[in-house]
Amino acid sequence: MKEFNYVIVGGGCAGLSLAYELEINNKLKDKTLAIIETRGEYKRDKTWSFWKVFDHSFNDCVIKSWDNFTINTSENSHELRNKDFPYQSIDSGKFYKKINYKLSANQNVSFFKNLDEVNSENSIIFNSVMKEKPNKSKLWQHFQGIEIETPKNIFDDEIVNLMDFNCDQRNDVHFFYTLPFSKNRALIETTWLSSLEDQSLMDYDIQLENYIRNNLGIESYKVNFTEKGAIPLYCPPFKNDNKTINIGSAGGMTRLSTGYTFLNIQEHSKYIVKNIDKIKKLKTFNLGKRYQFLDKVFLKVLEKHPEKMPKIFFNMFKSSSKTVIKFLSNKSNIFEDIKIIGKMPKLVFLKSLFN
Ligand SMILES: Cc1cc2nc3c(=O)[nH]c(=O)nc-3n(C[C@H](O)[C@H](O)[C@H](O)COP(=O)(O)OP(=O)(O)OC[C@H]3O[C@@H](n4cnc5c(N)ncnc54)[C@H](O)[C@@H]3O)c2cc1C
Repeated sequence: MKEFNYVIVGGGCAGLSLAYELEINNKLKDKTLAIIETRGEYKRDKTWSFWKVFDHSFNDCVIKSWDNFTINTSENSHELRNKDFPYQSIDSGKFYKKINYKLSANQNVSFFKNLDEVNSENSIIFNSVMKEKPNKSKLWQHFQGIEIETPKNIFDDEIVNLMDFNCDQRNDVHFFYTLPFSKNRALIETTWLSSLEDQSLMDYDIQLENYIRNNLGIESYKVNFTEKGAIPLYCPPFKNDNKTINIGSAGGMTRLSTGYTFLNIQEHSKYIVKNIDKIKKLKTFNLGKRYQFLDKVFLKVLEKHPEKMPKIFFNMFKSSSKTVIKFLSNKSNIFEDIKIIGKMPKLVFLKSLFN
């Protein structure tokens, strides 16, 4: 069996991002890389959105960027604008194609279906595959989105609707998310923050159909693309050992209060590549201990008081757009954190903190 310097287990977002970053920084000229990936083919399966708080390597995979976003409850609507940190959506199909095309030109890079097919005894292993069995009773962000196309122009394609809580909550936390890619094409997602035990919340098709007809007033449309997912909001990052470094969601790159992961993966990939020669000696990369702490308290409140969450999210977005974006992208300073904390209902959070 062939030996490799580096082995990446899981060629999804994190695995391919890391491979691409190694390649474009000339780290695979005289080193070999095996990517272990079980999927049969790469095609668009996700739309990755985030606030662009720093530059990344995938501007050519961006479907659209927006400067404006709104959040609404059944009573109120609030719009925020920020030109410095646009909200962007990436087409995963274009992302996979771009990276695979680049890697295919390097003979030092090989793909395999199974780790047993390579000799990884002396390799540095980067793992992006969740090893734990999913715990359905814990908190998840689960959702389904459809990209629809309408015969008439109906969307305002300048504004993302980040969270629309004007929908049935069924004793959990539920909102819709609309990304208008053009005036007649948008991704609309129904999103729940709950355990995965209640199957009745998963009638996503009906939820989307009702929302599109009743809330958006759209009678006629066709569906171009569907995506579905469940992101665990409880996962502790796996411990790295002296052989394996965890990356992606398996490496704690998901911000637990929001599910945002894509840009964290890019930052982690850059960190690994910059330090590749001494990577095993460096401390584990994380999103910041204070975000881990704040998210934990936030999610405790969410689990205990789902009915309060539309107002809590709404009030959080009453801060300046810069403060909210930096906080949600783990780039805020302590003063900005205090501003966000100041918007939260103090007693409820203090009770959860000491509970
Ligand atoms: C539908 C969806 C939409 C999302 N939208 C956003 C978003 O808008 N913004 C954002 O920031 N985050 C988003 N996320 C969260 C996160 O960015 C993605 O889940 C992202 O793909 C995580 O990257 P990853 O590499 O950790 O996992 P994945 O991309 O899932 O990669 C893991 C890879 O491992 C492979 N694999 C599985 N088992 C094995 C095995 N035994 N051996 C080898 N390979 C294996 C899988 O086929 C997969 O390719 C979304 C998640 C989903 C599911």
